Amino acid sequence: MTSRQAGEQRPFNFSPGPATLPEEVLQQAADELLNWHGSGMGVMEMSHRSQDFISICEQAESDLRGLLALPQDFHILFLQGGGIGQNAIAPLNLSQGGVVDFVVTGSWSSKSHEEAGRYVKAAPLAASGAASGYTDIPDLAAWQLSPQAAYVHLCSNETIQGVQFPEFPDLAALGSTAPLVVDCSSDIASRPMDWQRVGMAFAGAQKNLGPAGLTLVLIREELLGRALPICPSAFNYELVARSQSMYNTPPTWGIYLLGLTARWMLRQREGQQTGLAALAARNERQAAKLYAAIDASDFYINRVNPAVRSRMNVPFTLADESLTRRFLDGAEQRGLLQLQGHSSVGGMRASLYNAMTDEGVDALVAYLQDFERYAG
Ligand code: PMP
Repeated sequence: MTSRQAGEQRPFNFSPGPATLPEEVLQQAADELLNWHGSGMGVMEMSHRSQDFISICEQAESDLRGLLALPQDFHILFLQGGGIGQNAIAPLNLSQGGVVDFVVTGSWSSKSHEEAGRYVKAAPLAASGAASGYTDIPDLAAWQLSPQAAYVHLCSNETIQGVQFPEFPDLAALGSTAPLVVDCSSDIASRPMDWQRVGMAFAGAQKNLGPAGLTLVLIREELLGRALPICPSAFNYELVARSQSMYNTPPTWGIYLLGLTARWMLRQREGQQTGLAALAARNERQAAKLYAAIDASDFYINRVNPAVRSRMNVPFTLADESLTRRFLDGAEQRGLLQLQGHSSVGGMRASLYNAMTDEGVDALVAYLQDFERYAG
């Protein structure tokens, strides 16, 4: 693709991550790329110990805390290693080598479960959606929680299967005293979240927060200091928290872009609502429109229980799967990019992260209707 002319519209990008970012954010980053605020340096070129970068980092952290309404007893850590890194880092920091309960609702929680098994005494499945083909979340009343669990792990939004917890479960109401650990890589900052129910949450930045290479950890003060001796120092939550994420060089460019994105999210409005409430309303409206188009005929299929359908990632298949390639090629010609489903499940997937616009969803819905008329 050639570079864009002024005023030309960008294509709509439905990538599952790294994903589309707000155009205003990209534009500001481009404007500041060579010379940040008259410093004569770009952010990528600054020492992480410099006053300029420390101010960028503190502002990003405080804007993110405000946006998420994160309580003061949570630390915000900026790490590297991604969500998959956290699959090992979380048990190394929190399991104390004991028992960890897993709720498996799709590929990502399944991967977390497998990895944790290498570091803990036991990782029993408290609940699994496997029997439904990961089209549903097992009823909370049937979860089998271990009395001695060091924590309970779940994934709030399964990016591949498109299954999302409508809200975090209240473990205390289920009779458990274990802290909840949430992989919210693909729905962080997409809606208000009840942090009272959470002990630790992690997310790769590359969906709603910024570029790949930055991993966010939100952790309660009381859960620090539990790391196993073999935990690498650079990933020891307590060491990183005590050094304001500067134990080693943090992903500075990612933190800067997260800061710009947090500012953008704080500015968002939908009617009377602002910030996360506005984004949640927008995300819900966009997802409802797309699911309605998919459900409108038998031509497109999404088998997830409507009560737990993801508002971020909408997977779907064609009843006639031999048309999949043609669907994807036609989409691309219309400027609807990266709609291919994950290789493990095939079909299509439209990711509707915060930066997706109503125009993008309308264009996709129009394409769905046109393709069905043409090929159906
Ligand atoms: N968890 C979830 C929910 C994800 O969507 C992803 C990536 N798509 C991961 C974990 C893995 O993240 P990473 O590739 O950054 O390690």
